[in-house]
Amino acid sequence: MSTSVDVVIAGGGPVGAFAALCLRNTALSVVHVDSGKPGTERPIALSHGSRLLLAECDVFDRIANTPIRTIHVSQRGAFGRAVMTAEEFGLPALGYVADYGGIRSAMSKTVPPHSGRVTGWAATSDGVDVQVCDRDGLARIIHAGLLVLADGTAGAALLDEVPGSADRFVTRDYLQCAIVAQVRTEISHGNRAYERFTPDGPLALLPNGDGFALVWCVSPDAASDLAEAEDKTFLASLGMCFGLRLGKFVEVSGRRRFPLSLRFMKNNPDARVVSIGNAAQSLHPVAGQGLNLGLRDAWELAQALLDPEISIAHPDFAKSFMRHRATDRRMEIGLTDLLARTFSRFAPPLGPLRGAALLAIDVLPPVRRLLGNFMLHGSRPNRMAAMETDAGAVREKIVTLG
Ligand SMILES: Cc1cc2nc3c(=O)[nH]c(=O)nc-3n(C[C@H](O)[C@H](O)[C@H](O)COP(=O)(O)OP(=O)(O)OC[C@H]3O[C@@H](n4cnc5c(N)ncnc54)[C@H](O)[C@@H]3O)c2cc1C
Repeated sequence: MSTSVDVVIAGGGPVGAFAALCLRNTALSVVHVDSGKPGTERPIALSHGSRLLLAECDVFDRIANTPIRTIHVSQRGAFGRAVMTAEEFGLPALGYVADYGGIRSAMSKTVPPHSGRVTGWAATSDGVDVQVCDRDGLARIIHAGLLVLADGTAGAALLDEVPGSADRFVTRDYLQCAIVAQVRTEISHGNRAYERFTPDGPLALLPNGDGFALVWCVSPDAASDLAEAEDKTFLASLGMCFGLRLGKFVEVSGRRRFPLSLRFMKNNPDARVVSIGNAAQSLHPVAGQGLNLGLRDAWELAQALLDPEISIAHPDFAKSFMRHRATDRRMEIGLTDLLARTFSRFAPPLGPLRGAALLAIDVLPPVRRLLGNFMLHGSRPNRMAAMETDAGAVREKIVTLG
C-alpha cells in the first residue's frame, strides 16, 4: 500500500465498490479498504437509472437479475390501485431485482478492495491522515486528499469517535422489521412486481428468478413470530395478508429479519471527509431506494473528483459535494419517510386518502409521469435521461459543484 494517495475509500459494500469502479483506470490514486464483514443477503430492486450508471462502468451485465416490467400497487381492505408499465415509459424494464451479494461480488471481482479497517482519521493542512488496520492487525497511516466513508450503517461506530457525533445524525425508529424471504406462488410472476399496503405495514413481492423476493414489513413482535413460524404457517399468514391474486403461496426459503429505521447525516464529519451510501443515509425499504441513492452518491462523487475544473485540494471540496447532493438526498429521504409513515400501520385510518392518491397516480398522466421519473432516476431525471442509450455509451458531465 502506498502511504500517500489522492483518495481512501472506507467500505467495500456496493456503494464503496462502485465509487472504486468509477475511479479505476483514472489519474487518481485510490486505496480501497473493506473490513470484510459480509453484508446480510437481501433482494435489491435496482432502478432503471442505476442500470445506466452500472452499465457505464461495464458491470451491469455481470449482475444476475430479473427485470420488472410492471408494478402493481394496492392497499388491503380499501379501494385504490395503480399500475405502471415499462412500455409507457418506453423502457425495457422499470427496474431489476438482484441479490445484494451478487451486486457486491460483480463489482469486487473487477476492483478487489484491500482487506482492512479504517479506524480513524486526523485532518492535516493539505488533506487527511487515515488510520488503517490491516487483516493481520498491523496499523498504518495513509495520507490522502480525501477520505470517503462508504462504511454503511456501521459507519456510526467510526463517527462515534469524532467530537460532536451525537448531533450529526437524525434518526427515527419505525418500530417495524422487514421479513425477507424467497417465495413461490401457484401463478408465475410474469415480471410483475407487487407493492401492497396492509394495516400491518407494506408488503412487496419482487420477481426474482422463478419466484418472488418477499419484503414484508411488520411490527417487531409479528416479525419474531413470522421468522420462527413453520413454513406452512408462514405461507398461510402471507396468503391471508396478500390475497389470492397469485394463487396460493407454495414455498418459502431464506427467511431473514431486518429492524427498520431512518438515519441520515445532518452535517459533514470533516473538511476532508465525505460520506456516501448508507454511511450518509439509511432508509426504510418501502420504496426500494437506499442503494439506488447510494449509487448516485458514488457516481456524482467520481464525476466531481475527475472534473479538471474542480480541485480535490480545495478546502471546500467536501462541503461543496455534500451541498451538491443535498437535494436528491432530501427528496428521497422525505418521500420514503412519508410513504413509510403514511402507509404504515401506525398511521391514523387514512384508507380513503391513500385510495385517492393511488387513483390519482393511476388515472392522471402527469402525476404518474412525475412519480415514475422520480422512482426511475431520483431528483435528476432530465440529466439522467440524457445518458439513455442502448449500450449506455453516452458519458455526461453531471456535476457542477457549488
Ligand atoms: C430489507 C431491505 C431491503 C432493501 N431493498 C432495497 C432495494 O430494493 N433497493 C435499494 O436501492 N436499496 C434497498 N435496500 C438498501 C440497501 O441494502 C442499502 O442502501 C445498501 O446495501 C447500502 O450499501 P453501502 O455500500 O452503503 O453499505 P453496506 O452494504 O452496509 O456496506 C458497508 C461495507 O463497509 C464495510 N465497513 C464497515 N466499517 C468499515 C471500516 N471502518 N473500514 C472499512 N470497511 C468498513 C462493511 O464490512 C461493508 O462491507 C434495502 C435494505 C434492506 C434492509
